[in-house]
Amino acid sequence: MNLRAAYLLRDSNLADLDDDMSKDSDTALNPANKTLASVISCLSDYDPDALPVADAQAIIRQLIEPINAVEKIALRSALDRVLAADIVSPINVPSHDNSAMDGYAFHGKELNKDSDLSLKVIGTAFAGRAFDGTVGSGACVRIMTGAIMPGGCDTVIPQEYVLGANAAGDSAITIPAGAVKTGDNRRLKGEDLKVGTPALQKGKILRPADLGLLASLGIGEVPVQRRLRVAFFSTGDELRSIGETLDEGCVYDSNRYTLYGMLTRLGCDVVDMGVIKDDPAVLEAAFRTACENADAIITSGGVSVGEADYTKQMMAQLGDVGFWKIGMRPGRPMAFGKIASNGKQAYLFGLPGNPVAVMVTFYFLARQALLHMMGASAVAAPPLMRVVSKAAIRKRPGRTEYQRGILSRNSAGIQEVSITGSQGSGVLRSMSEANCMVVLEHDRADVKAGDLVDVILFEGLI
Ligand code: AMP
Ligand code: MG
Repeated sequence: MNLRAAYLLRDSNLADLDDDMSKDSDTALNPANKTLASVISCLSDYDPDALPVADAQAIIRQLIEPINAVEKIALRSALDRVLAADIVSPINVPSHDNSAMDGYAFHGKELNKDSDLSLKVIGTAFAGRAFDGTVGSGACVRIMTGAIMPGGCDTVIPQEYVLGANAAGDSAITIPAGAVKTGDNRRLKGEDLKVGTPALQKGKILRPADLGLLASLGIGEVPVQRRLRVAFFSTGDELRSIGETLDEGCVYDSNRYTLYGMLTRLGCDVVDMGVIKDDPAVLEAAFRTACENADAIITSGGVSVGEADYTKQMMAQLGDVGFWKIGMRPGRPMAFGKIASNGKQAYLFGLPGNPVAVMVTFYFLARQALLHMMGASAVAAPPLMRVVSKAAIRKRPGRTEYQRGILSRNSAGIQEVSITGSQGSGVLRSMSEANCMVVLEHDRADVKAGDLVDVILFEGLI
């Protein structure tokens, strides 16, 4: 079954329609790959029922392997993609010494720090149209920004510094004493990028500046890692999809929409498999379909301690999966590992069901792992900022807490954060109102008003 078919079948009984799939549980993972047990054995004090966030992140980081599949695409399409090879500059940028200003080019040795200097204007150098000839003593050339420095010149005086009549076309100019030094306002050949030196490194996520930089090298096609394919579905008999009647005790499935948003922002190809009913055959078919067609699978719900459903059972049956209670809030229960079906394997992130817990576990446990799978270099970790907490925050040591915050500047220009409304793990409204996440580290106790806390901004400049 292909992904499109899986998508179309999302609310049907996948098992009935999936007869070409083996029903044998193929849990034989590639022996060359690491297993959870081998990764966990490197950790002292591993306790799946009280796992610090840092340990969960480390286990995930060590099990995950990059996909390493390269494609060459046109420069514009490479925006936000992961560069798959180092780019070595084929040329010097700029290719010649040139002027950084509109003004007059001359040789700096003519300058005398105690007296003005008068020079005869002997011609003009335009950007893309060089001055033909060499400039000798007592002479200068009118020059435009970006024009090649004429022979014999190493300095430019901006036109607004020149004394007396200095409009374009004047036959002589006067440079006031001390207005410029030798070498001023001259851009050197190769000062941006030198031929033969690395311009961009493999693993970089290409941002607008990188597209421009590649264009400045004349590079029109770029090797990038192929997009990561991530399949996701929701589990829980109480869930209804948009358009369905909301029966008593039911809720609309919001997690698939936040997951769609977060994965799309990360640059993944997404496969929304809908709500999967709590039926072993349907769940098995969904896991197998997802596994055979995607690099990673994200589910939400069904991994809590008290769950009486088949989600956990199926995860364990199809693969090498750990079930954790993580020392974090929100987002305590989570499953992570690899599952296999018909010789294919995929990483599995079984996130909790609560809508905010899904987002927090995605951002702090799955995101970095997905970026690593995409081949992105470690630079992709979002920066933490230390800011002042406006009010006291209750915090229990022994778990990492992620609170929804609003960061603003006070009248003294200092960044301050306050917590948004209810921090319940099901309250999406306070997540929507927030502009940052306050990260209260594992060992920290209560925060007093005025204490410094770490925040991660939701949005950046680019
Ligand atoms: P669970 O982790 O399955 O015990 O779910 C915890 C809470 O999250 C329950 O109140 C669920 O109804 C809710 N929940 C689970 N999945 C979703 C979803 N996809 N959309 C909205 N709420 C959900
Ligand atoms: Mg549930």
